[in-house]
Amino acid sequence: MKNNLIPVANPLAQFNAHETEIRNAMERVVKSGRYILGPEVDDFENEFASFLGARFAVGVASGTDALLLALKAAGVAPGDEVITVSHSAVATVAAIELAGAVPVFSDIDHATRCINPVKIPSLVSDRTKVVLPVHIYGQPAPMPEILAIAQRLGLKVVEDCAQAHGAEINGRKVGTFGDASAFSFYPTKNLGALGDGGAVVTNSPELAAKIRYLREYGWQERYVSAIPGGNSRLDELQAAILRAKLPHLSVDNERRRNIAARYAAAIKGTELRAPSEITGTLHAMHLFVVESGERDELQQFLHEAGIGSAIHYPLAIHRQPAYREKIRGWEDLSITDELYGRILTLPLYPEMTDGEVEMVCKTLGRWTDTNKRTRSIR
Ligand SMILES: *Cc1c(COP(=O)(O)O)cnc(C)c1O
Repeated sequence: MKNNLIPVANPLAQFNAHETEIRNAMERVVKSGRYILGPEVDDFENEFASFLGARFAVGVASGTDALLLALKAAGVAPGDEVITVSHSAVATVAAIELAGAVPVFSDIDHATRCINPVKIPSLVSDRTKVVLPVHIYGQPAPMPEILAIAQRLGLKVVEDCAQAHGAEINGRKVGTFGDASAFSFYPTKNLGALGDGGAVVTNSPELAAKIRYLREYGWQERYVSAIPGGNSRLDELQAAILRAKLPHLSVDNERRRNIAARYAAAIKGTELRAPSEITGTLHAMHLFVVESGERDELQQFLHEAGIGSAIHYPLAIHRQPAYREKIRGWEDLSITDELYGRILTLPLYPEMTDGEVEMVCKTLGRWTDTNKRTRSIR
């Protein structure tokens, strides 16, 4: 049983579910003789932008690069400050530092687990250039509030949408609120390639053009660099695979939300806390993260029942050796710190069978009973 845990994510099951379309897409590229920045990338960019309701998408090599290029295109220069959260993948902070900028940490709001906009003004200095909210686990950060504050303070906004493909606020997709937005197509994301990939999304033609320069040596035209750039290209194979998968994203997200609702119902009224339901938002349910006062015991209990789980993430960024006590704002992250000891990610991917979902729900029910009993004995 234990060698055969229900995994937290399952990119192979996704490949199997769409194998013919994916193989056809790959074959088309292999036989085309064009492997880098060709028609598949062009078409994917248009299709992805249209899915989001944005004007431009620019394919790049990864989500980290998407953040880096979005920040550079937004005019972030060495020494500029970017206000973000410590409750994220470390890539968020890595990208800020790769841009030569200085990350500053805001605490989160417990309900959304995203940046608490109320904290932003007190963190602003005369070097602050950008606010970078992360739609963590697929829950949209409160963009209308963030945009209002950013506008008042003269700051740009770059969204980290790596976990939130298809999430919405009042019917509008995340990634269309900020000056620019970054998506990752890492295989386990809601829209995942069979390798690395990413995209920057923007409504600004100027930013889109600059990101296109930056992703290929600063080229304005072939062999003529308008600005200093690098290499962060999306390849044709990944673009074609993403095109095969994109038409299924909305249905997949719906299935994720359906599984999440069953988990939430199974733990209602118990010590376990499900993700909050935030009015007006559509959650992409990249990860279903419960909170428990006995997280480690819960993880062990699930493991013994054949259910995998994970901790996203075991250490907040401001607790990691590379960043400890080095990032302004770190002393004042009490909600972030509290959350880290309590979070556990349950299995959630669109190809989970109803039987598997049922098994997770039943096991959560058993945990609650067992747990209640041992607590009353103590
Ligand atoms: C995955 C992820 C990234 C980085 O994406 P890569 O494609 O792995 O570089 C950035 N931010 C968040 C929140 C992520 O989950």
